[in-house]
Amino acid sequence: MTTTKPPLIWLNVIVFTSTLAIALIGTPLYAWYVGFDGAQLAMLFVAFTFCGMSITAGYHRLWSHKTYEANTFLRVLFAIGGAFALQNSILHWSSDHRIHHRHVDNNDVDPYSAKRGFFFSHIGWMLRDYHADRYHDYTNCRDLQKDPIVMWQHKYYLPLALATNIGIPLLFGLIHGDVWGALLLVGVVRLVLSHHTTFFINSLAHVWGSQPYTDNNTARDNGFLALLTFGEGYHNFHHIFENDYRNGIRWWQFDPTKWLIKSCEWVGMTKKLRVTPEDKVEKARASMLHQRLHKKLLTLPNPQVRLQRLDEEYEALLQKMADYYAAQKRMLELKKKHLLEHYDNFEFMQQYHEMKCRLEDQRRIWKRLTEQYA
Ligand SMILES: [Zn+2]
Ligand SMILES: [Zn+2]
Repeated sequence: MTTTKPPLIWLNVIVFTSTLAIALIGTPLYAWYVGFDGAQLAMLFVAFTFCGMSITAGYHRLWSHKTYEANTFLRVLFAIGGAFALQNSILHWSSDHRIHHRHVDNNDVDPYSAKRGFFFSHIGWMLRDYHADRYHDYTNCRDLQKDPIVMWQHKYYLPLALATNIGIPLLFGLIHGDVWGALLLVGVVRLVLSHHTTFFINSLAHVWGSQPYTDNNTARDNGFLALLTFGEGYHNFHHIFENDYRNGIRWWQFDPTKWLIKSCEWVGMTKKLRVTPEDKVEKARASMLHQRLHKKLLTLPNPQVRLQRLDEEYEALLQKMADYYAAQKRMLELKKKHLLEHYDNFEFMQQYHEMKCRLEDQRRIWKRLTEQYA
């Protein structure tokens, strides 16, 4: 890495600082002297959601990771919402993001490497021309270059960004009757909120939270951040299973982007939703926990007996998982062929239920033991 800093990108510096200043100073003053009403706040929420979800469901999970397929209407909608969010074109965003996943935490290659500090990964990486050499290199997005909507948005990004960022607040202001209030709230405040909550995924979600699946990179799971980012806070899961259309995989985890993609499937707007096989998820969790506790026990006096117990129960868990998931796979195949009720498979079904029970017992033992050692 060179020691001299690359030149500032003045357009970005001006956009980020001026919008932040206007939002921070202008909003309280306007609220005090003129005031905002419920319709304006509702519109702020709608516009913020439109921008946010276009990035999470569109830019991120659809285009960068191809975790599902979407119809033309939805892709056009996300392309427009993405320009409204003012985060560069789909093609450019996805290219950067694919490099981020491939070279996560590598300070020389990862465009927003968290190891270069909070400020850099949050916004600093966009303020200077750090990777001028590869700015127009989209070789890692050849698949996206075949999508006419992606290329249309890339070509007309600037007019689209201006039309949405000025046009939508202006139109709402004219209808509602307070143009300046709309430009401030739906224009500037919405943009600042949308920017910084998305930027938190590159900064905060790489320093604050838990690492239940892997510690091979800095990505964290953070339920609070998920609330602000339409579910993208479960970043530790996302970095290990990036092809999954979900980020929060449990039903109680807040992931509205997942709910949107799933609901669109019911009405035929999305298809081929990709999910990680359950056994891989369970294995990753168990392996991470085993590794962490193994390291912890090594720091304690006379850990041999406990270490041996931990290793034994872990091995037993893996074995019972392998047995059960293999049986489950066979069971699903038989079900598909409508052979489950067949007399010959009666014995197999008994074995299947036995394996399920054995795995459940082992899960309980593992849980108790790991809680005790934690
Ligand atoms: Zn990603
Ligand atoms: Zn990341």
